[in-house]
Amino acid sequence: MSTIDKINQLRKERDAVILAHYYVDDEVQAIADYVGDSFYLSKIATMVKAKTIVFCGVFFMGESAKILNPEKTVILPDMGADCPMAHMADIRKINEAREQYKDLAVVCYINSTAELKTYADVCVTSSNAMKIVKSLPNQHIYFIPDENLGRYIASKVPEKHFIFNDGYCHVHTSITAKNVNIVKGIHPRAQVLVHPECTMEVIALADYVGSTSGIINYVAESRNKEFIVCTEMGVLYELQLKKPKKRFYDAGQKQCSDMKRVTLEKVADALEKMENVVELEEGKRLAASKPLERMLELG
Ligand code: SF4
Repeated sequence: MSTIDKINQLRKERDAVILAHYYVDDEVQAIADYVGDSFYLSKIATMVKAKTIVFCGVFFMGESAKILNPEKTVILPDMGADCPMAHMADIRKINEAREQYKDLAVVCYINSTAELKTYADVCVTSSNAMKIVKSLPNQHIYFIPDENLGRYIASKVPEKHFIFNDGYCHVHTSITAKNVNIVKGIHPRAQVLVHPECTMEVIALADYVGSTSGIINYVAESRNKEFIVCTEMGVLYELQLKKPKKRFYDAGQKQCSDMKRVTLEKVADALEKMENVVELEEGKRLAASKPLERMLELG
């Protein structure tokens, strides 16, 4: 029996739905029931009827699915697939900022551990961060963990005072303005599409700035035929499915090695053994669910 046949048989037997992030390998995206960015997948996780969710992504995504769906079994094909940025915030500094600014709102990018979310007032994604930050009554915003996304949002909401944290995504920060300019020199008609986890120097070169879903929608609606893609290149699978005649160029960025740990064999294995189950202590789950639910209300 092929690995795909095995997955198909097991997903029925286990009453499982397979969710995959745009950054995992093409063959994993191809067998998934739903493919999307972290916000879309966390919303889908609350809507599906299946008892088991197989989350093809990194650990914080499985945690978010579990936080919002405590009654479901959430399993990960690879428990070691972990986003380094999701951990990059210092609790002591958050507490100090809370002491210093009485009306502080700790705004936490969804790309963060459940532990970090427990210290946040609201979660955001790259698609809804601007809207949510604007709608908060607070004047002082502590943005965790991604400094680049925080700086981009701050540039769009100048009326608020931001405190930045020094977290970053090693994939998006591997994209340099120099490389984007070189690729642009070779393909002068290509539009530059940038994820806001990139640096402000790269964002300054963008024709469009947005989440992975935003980039996909932009390409689908654009009349332009060539694009320089400044995010993880796993997104190419969906871009080429939607627009096979358009041309896409990378900017020399790194791959997300954690997302690429998810393979078809591991999906089959996880479904067969049902071992890689995401568990969260109930107190922590409840504390982490508050900022996520506030995001779903405000976003
Ligand atoms: S691409 Fe960056 S932010 Fe996304 S999972 Fe990989 S390391 Fe984390």
